[in-house]
Amino acid sequence: MSNTTLRDIVIIGAGLSGLSAAYNLTKAGKTVQVIEARNRIGGRACTDESFGFPVELGCMAIHGYNEGNPVLGYAKAFGLETRPLPSSSGRLFTKDGPVNAALTEKLRANLTSAMSYLNTASSKSSLSDASSVADIFLSSTSPLYTGLTESEKAIAVALARTTEIGWGIPLEETSAHWSGWASGVAFAGSDGVIVGGYGKLVESLRRKAEETGKASFVLDARVSKVIHTEDNNIRIHTSDGRIFTGHTALSTIPLGTMKTLPTDFFEPPLPARKLSAISRTSVGILEKLGLFYDSLWWDTSSPGPFTVLLETGTLLAIPISESPPCLHVLVPYGLAGLSADKIHDILSEAICPGTVPVPQPTKIVSSCWKDDELALGATSSPVRVGEGRTPLDFAELARPVWGGLLGFAGEATELDHRGSVPGAILSGEREARRIEALLDRQVLL
Ligand SMILES: Cc1cc2nc3c(=O)[nH]c(=O)nc-3n(C[C@H](O)[C@H](O)[C@H](O)COP(=O)(O)OP(=O)(O)OC[C@H]3O[C@@H](n4cnc5c(N)ncnc54)[C@H](O)[C@@H]3O)c2cc1C
Repeated sequence: MSNTTLRDIVIIGAGLSGLSAAYNLTKAGKTVQVIEARNRIGGRACTDESFGFPVELGCMAIHGYNEGNPVLGYAKAFGLETRPLPSSSGRLFTKDGPVNAALTEKLRANLTSAMSYLNTASSKSSLSDASSVADIFLSSTSPLYTGLTESEKAIAVALARTTEIGWGIPLEETSAHWSGWASGVAFAGSDGVIVGGYGKLVESLRRKAEETGKASFVLDARVSKVIHTEDNNIRIHTSDGRIFTGHTALSTIPLGTMKTLPTDFFEPPLPARKLSAISRTSVGILEKLGLFYDSLWWDTSSPGPFTVLLETGTLLAIPISESPPCLHVLVPYGLAGLSADKIHDILSEAICPGTVPVPQPTKIVSSCWKDDELALGATSSPVRVGEGRTPLDFAELARPVWGGLLGFAGEATELDHRGSVPGAILSGEREARRIEALLDRQVLL
């Protein structure tokens, strides 16, 4: 079944990178075909509303809310409401209950000093490629432990591991040499959210692209082959036998999925340099849970989040609503295999020890990005320990092939913003600008 319309560009994937490229290219007057394998758009931006209340199963925060995150510009242009999140870092808990205020203050001050210690150490020329963040952060000379007893030191280590939530990999596997490489350029500082969730941005990008009359979307169509044809176009096959053709194409297939593609998925095959960058880079794990209750059981007098420090990882539970009572839980790689009921038990025992009865969740929504074959993980991770691994691998993931006709976008392709919504959006803008210029040059030739 061949779609005979020759488009300026065929975009594989309708996540935020594909949607940002589609929106910007249609605005520039180019014709766009978007092919998405799921039965929904948004990819790892996934706002679940199955219980009548939005819960983000993928991205939630606008990091760098007051520091120039590009999401704000799009939200304003589309009339979407945004709001800053309170700057409170909330309360700390161990599995046995709350950590007292004095110790919490000491632990947080030590963590800040340990961060500076890591930054200083990571810029030393004597540091080998084999050094991990844990080698420095958790070393016996780290300021993480200043003035703490042996049992408090264990809590300090667990607190240090909260950084693994965003990274998706253990401190032991994260390169010390490249840690903090993007700090100062990546969006950080204050946080905010889109009221109603990222789904609103996703829908707006699609609608605005479609309103130009230049964009067409197909869902439930998984691309199975991408071919550079003899007449210098790109032919794209889907697993249900459809064929789409473009002067150019853009792949936004996530890094985790790219790692599993058969070697003949791209014809001719991708260059060895890109294939090594795909295998050297990695994808981290982070899952989300929404736990709904019939009645409130946590103390609402102090603001969240509730940070529950365990030996195997940190659970971050954010009370996102009191009516209905709902906890939004971030589950890191070390705990990603636990059931929602088990996570509820851990949270309730830590946050309200000895309180009877804590109600069981009545509704649960959860992600499973690690097993989702269209993602295979949460996002690209920071550079891992190991010879030859550098952030330049992310730049290589972004390099176009076939004379520039096939481009690559997605969070993993943005050197300074990998692993984030701005990374996805900026990569789509970057490729839209490049492809627009390429198409305009071809017209002039
Ligand atoms: C749990 C979690 C929490 C996060 N929290 C935040 C946060 O708070 N703030 C933040 O800034 N970022 C956050 N992120 C990161 C952010 O969600 C991602 O960086 C961003 O959504 C990625 O967009 P993308 O377009 O690169 O990829 P995707 O959204 O994955 O889009 C790629 C699309 O390609 C499709 N696809 C794959 N293979 C094929 C194929 N063969 N044929 C057709 N289609 C295909 C997929 O179905 C998908 O829709 C989070 C991510 C996760 C998972």
